[in-house]
Parts: sequence; structure tokens; C-alpha cells
Amino acid sequence: MTVTLTAKLSEPIETRLFINNEFRESANNKTFEVVYPYTQEVIANVQEADVQDVDDAVSAAKAAYPAWRDLGVEKRGEYLRKVSKLFLEANDELAQLETLCTGRPISQFFDAKLSSERFRYFADGAWSVQGTASTNTPGILSMTVKEPYGVVGLIIPWNFPLIMFSMKVAPALAAGNTVVLKSSEKAPLTSIYAAKLFIKANFPPGVINIISGHGTSSGSALASHMSVRCLSFTGSSLTGQKIQAAAAKSNLKHVHMELGGKSPAVVFSDANLESAAAQTQFSIRFNSGQVCIANSRIYVQESVADEFIKLFREKFAAITAGDPLDPSTSHGPQIDKLQYNRIQEYLRIGEKEGSLTLGGDANDGFFIKPTIFERVPEESRLMREEVFGPVVTINTFQTEEEAIEKANNTEFGLFASVFTKDLDRALRMSRALEAGVVAVNCTSPSSKDAAFGGYKMSGTGREGYLYSIDNFVQTKTILIKSGEMGGIWG
Ligand code: NAD
Repeated sequence: MTVTLTAKLSEPIETRLFINNEFRESANNKTFEVVYPYTQEVIANVQEADVQDVDDAVSAAKAAYPAWRDLGVEKRGEYLRKVSKLFLEANDELAQLETLCTGRPISQFFDAKLSSERFRYFADGAWSVQGTASTNTPGILSMTVKEPYGVVGLIIPWNFPLIMFSMKVAPALAAGNTVVLKSSEKAPLTSIYAAKLFIKANFPPGVINIISGHGTSSGSALASHMSVRCLSFTGSSLTGQKIQAAAAKSNLKHVHMELGGKSPAVVFSDANLESAAAQTQFSIRFNSGQVCIANSRIYVQESVADEFIKLFREKFAAITAGDPLDPSTSHGPQIDKLQYNRIQEYLRIGEKEGSLTLGGDANDGFFIKPTIFERVPEESRLMREEVFGPVVTINTFQTEEEAIEKANNTEFGLFASVFTKDLDRALRMSRALEAGVVAVNCTSPSSKDAAFGGYKMSGTGREGYLYSIDNFVQTKTILIKSGEMGGIWG
């Protein structure tokens, strides 16, 4: 198989680090390979950042910080608006690069448009960074203001690289920070490409620095850097623990984390089963199940289980697997051999402990067929660990209490769905489910006003339009005392 679509890229793929508005080789000139998951061909050799490069990027961001901060919200907004337009113009190029890195079908690409919207939103939304003032204490004017941290580190995963990029970069810059972003070693190309857009938008040198590399080298160097005062991370809970430890051991930097999930969907007998089946199967099939909020555990009420599973199976099995660059493909491969092998391990567990009713076996390459296991014991690893593939368990329950207990029987708490027409029950379930987002009769967050983030081991802090800004500002109180007032302390 050959990569035919690379020919449609209008420029050669950029592979260098982006530091202080310049593309450059890494200090040790090491590279790592990026592979197209469909053909398993090497599509790029990307410069691998190490400790020295992280240091250079942080120094550039530090030097750029005072001027960027002092520019003010309105002027910073002008830069963000410019880059927002450029993301839209680069849609086709970004779509191809993202597909080549991740293997997600190009038909599922909406990321450049979403990124454009985010930069435009934060160009204006940064005005929400406000404080309060009070004269409640006689003789004292007390003002509480929000200020940027300075240099912010951003570490993102591979499953939606560009979406994660804009989710973090737009609010961090809008709030007045300068940034060093480290992309995932599995999918660095759209982040590097985005650097070109920041050059085109005339961003001052050092305001945004983008490095590629592995977690153990450049990632941990960024997490423990003494001049980085705030770090926003999206990735697995295991890496989140390492990052929090690194932050604690270095300078106690403020850490915000969006982590893994094992999200339940609870389907009651009074639900619109057609709609519940359509939505839940899409949730676990989109991006081949490599989605943090995918409903990997479905609990359906005993009395409608057969009907629901029949509807679910029909839709879940109807995929077009193939070249992700082909617009008619709806199901792509897993990102790499490692993920593919991990999922195979879970399939073996499922076969041993549950009842396989669809899929299970693998196709050629890194493809995994949509797979259903039923009646899996709650304590099985398949029920407790994040599989990150198109693999769903469907278990049953009889009472609402039982559904709550089973749904909450996890260390994760990112997202939960409830399907019912009973409003009282929907409200009871919304309160009872331990998750950062509870969605009633739907499976994904579509509201721009909503906060997004996890309970338990699924994260700390929140993202989302207005909420993201909070991750990138710290609070300062300024007290001004009138000279004419006395008081116990003189
Ligand atoms: P990962 O934790 O393996 O890697 C994420 C990033 O961290 C990568 O850039 C990696 O290089 C870096 N990294 C790895 N070890 C590091 C270390 N010791 N120090 C610093 N950085 C390090 O995760 P992944 O496999 O890239 O992504 C999949 C995971 O991300 C899943 O668990 C998924 O649920 C989660 N995720 C969560 C959300 C959310 O919003 N909650 C969104 C997308 C993905």
C-alpha cells in the first residue's frame, strides 16, 4: 500500500521544532518516525526535543511574556482573530495531516473549524477575566484581580491532537500567558503545521513555542521545569499521576488535568430505544473508540435488553472499514501496534470472562472490528480499565439503585449518560452519577457554555469555553489603605 494523498499536500511536511518563531532542528538532532496507521508507512521523521530544547523554548516564552501580557486583552484578541481565520483556510491540509498521523477517517474531521471557532471565541472571551472590588472594610479599597501565570506548559495526547491544541492554546494566550506546547509523539504534525499559521498571523517571537517528542524526555522536562508556573495536561490517568508528581517535586506548579474515562450509559425501559442505541453505538465507534468520553460500559434495563441490543448491533456492525483518507470510510485502524495489541489483550479477557456477541476478531493491519461483550463480571479488567477501542460491554440491571451502583463502580468519572423519558428519574440519576458531565438522552457535550472535566481519577479542573480561562489565570488581591484611617495595626 502506498500513501497516495501525501501528493495532495501543497507543501512538504514540516518536521522541525518551533521555538522563538523559528523552525529548527533539535539540539541533539535526533528524530522519531511518524507512521500512517493504515499503510504502516513512515510519513515523516520528526525532530525530537530533549531537555535542552525544552529549556530553549521556555526561555523564549519567558522573554516574550511581559510584552504579551502588557499588550492587553483587545490587542491579543486581534492576533487570535487572525489565526482563527487561518485555521479555516488550512482545513484541507490539516485534515490530511491529522488523518495521516492518527488514522481517524477524514470524513470525521471537523477539527480545523472547531479550532477556528475557539480562537475566535477566546479573542473576545478573554474579557471575562475580571476581578472584584470592595470598600466593605472602612478605609480599605480591596481589589481582587486575575493575572496570567507567565510561561504555561501544555501537553496533549494523540487521539484528537488539533482539538486539544486549540482547547489549550487559545485560552492560555488570550489570558496573557506565553506557551510551550508538547504534542504527542504519535501525532505531532498538525501542531507543527499550526506553527506556520502563527507566523502568518504575525505573532511576536516566543509567544507560542511548539515542540515534538516523547513524554519521558521533553514531556517530563516541561512538567518539572522551574520557570513553568502552570501546566495543563490531557492524557491518561497514569501519566497524569507522573506529571502531578513531577510538578510537586519541582516548583509546585499549578496543574490542570483532563484524564481517562470508563463512561457508563444507563438505558431505562421507558427510553426511546432507537435513539439510545443509535447514539451509544456511535459514541463507542467514533474514532475507533479512541475517545475519552466513549460510553464503553452500557447498562440496559433487563426488560428491554434484547430489543436494545438488537438495535445496537445492527447499527454498530454497519461500518465501512478502509483507507481513512477515502471520504467514504467510516471506520479506521487503531493508531498503532501498541494500541492494537493492548486491545487484543482485552478481547481475550472478554472472551474468557464474558459472552462475545459481535466482532472480537481483528482485520488486517491495525483494524479492530466493533465488538460487543455481554454479561461481563463487574470486577473484570474489561469493566474497570480504559480499553480505548471499539469494544463495548452491555450488562443489565433491574432497579434504579442497581444501575447507580454499577455505573459508579469505577475509579473514573469523566462522563455518564442516562436514557429515560421520566424527568424525575433523570434528575435523580444526574445527582447520583459520579461524573463531571451527566448527559440525559444524549452522549456527547454539545453546549458551548458547558464545563468539561472529570470526577475521581478522570481529572482536576475544567475545560470548556468560559471555564478554560480559569486554568490559566491566578488571583491577586490588592489592598489600598487610606492614609487618614487609623486602625489597630496603625
Ligand atoms: P498519554 O498519557 O500516554 O500521553 C499524553 C501526553 O503525555 C503525550 O504527549 C505524551 O508524550 C506525554 N507524556 C507521557 N509520559 C509523560 C511524562 N512522564 N511526563 C510528561 N509527559 C508525558 O495519553 P495518550 O495515549 O496520548 O492519550 C490517550 C489518553 O488520553 C486516554 O486515557 C484518554 O482518555 C485521554 N484523553 C482524555 C481527554 C479528556 O479531555 N479527559 C481527552 C483526550 C484524551
